[in-house]
Amino acid sequence: MRPFATFAAPSPVSPSSRVNELCVAALLAAALLTTPAHAQRHPAPVTAYSAAPSASAPHPSDSQRPFLDLRISPLADMHFLLRALLAPDEPRPALPGLDQALAAVADVDRAAVWPLIEGLLSDCASAADLPAVAQHAPESLTTRDGRTVRLRAHLTCLADAYRQFEPQFMAQLWPTHRATIEEAHRRLCDELLSRQSACYDFLCRLLDLPPPQRPIPVYLVAVAPRPGGFTHRLRGAGVSFVSIRGNEGPLLRETVIHESIHALDIASAEHPSALNILRGELQQRGVARTDPMLRDLPHTLMFFAAAETIRRCLDPAHRDYGDVAGYYAKVPAATAAIRAHWSDWVAGTQPRAATVRALADATPRPPASPAEPRTAFPSEPRTASPAEPRTAFPAEPRP
Ligand SMILES: [Zn+2]
Repeated sequence: MRPFATFAAPSPVSPSSRVNELCVAALLAAALLTTPAHAQRHPAPVTAYSAAPSASAPHPSDSQRPFLDLRISPLADMHFLLRALLAPDEPRPALPGLDQALAAVADVDRAAVWPLIEGLLSDCASAADLPAVAQHAPESLTTRDGRTVRLRAHLTCLADAYRQFEPQFMAQLWPTHRATIEEAHRRLCDELLSRQSACYDFLCRLLDLPPPQRPIPVYLVAVAPRPGGFTHRLRGAGVSFVSIRGNEGPLLRETVIHESIHALDIASAEHPSALNILRGELQQRGVARTDPMLRDLPHTLMFFAAAETIRRCLDPAHRDYGDVAGYYAKVPAATAAIRAHWSDWVAGTQPRAATVRALADATPRPPASPAEPRTAFPSEPRTASPAEPRTAFPAEPRP
């Protein structure tokens, strides 16, 4: 797992901290806020919360420990709506302050630093908490490709714009969004949380992933830009955001599981998971760090695993997101390689390592001649576009 960025300077908050994590959040522990003041400005239901029944407690019909913490946050919802509204074909509501908020969002969007910022939303109950997060953030970061990112300035700009726009959002848009999110939350409680132990027992065995140390936070938002699912590193673990729009019906639970696999993958960087072993096998076969296959094959494996988990544990008739939403068609080589070995993988008829090696053997090899390199891509993460596969986290190169 490669860090997205390294800090340009030690943090004044925690100078002794290791600063090799991509996310500034490790240095922002002092800024973790659950300010009562927010609850006074907004009635209790609009603060960030884990809607009942909380995944922090065992679901009544699921006696084992929880794996998911489904959360609802007006701030996260507003943020992803604003990101979505940057698209030229998105109708924009006529609200005071919207243009200024969108200008701030567009500025950060151009800087391609959302992975450094969005995880921090989980530390905020409202926009009022953002200035403190900005104040404690490193002034600048250096990305893997050498860019200098003015992180504190971006956060400060967002904080100002969001504090201005939040009252309009809360009054005009949040009630509808909240109803949408809470309905989805209820559905996920019934369809997924009620069987989460069975699902994650199966999934963790399928990918040799260790169970999470604590429930994986997954924020549900009404609208987000494509691809509609995002997972970012935060203090060595993953924080996920899942859009309800674009993940309608049975796709929602698969997307939640898919994003949670990213979170489990982030948290198991040093663990011999099937994903990490597969990455190692690919690199041993000459697949370079810059080769899209090094991302696409493990990522496609996540899609297969999420869909298989639902079929085995929740709904035998479930169809893969990759088929329904067209992801598999975007990565035909990776999909074909996994399909050829998937029944063996699931059945466990041979040691997992042997199946992983067979899968790595089945993937297209890089050209022998260095004069014909496979397509390289920027080493920096950027905002997902409709043409690219779903969520990666910051340590993951994007095409
Ligand atoms: Zn993904």
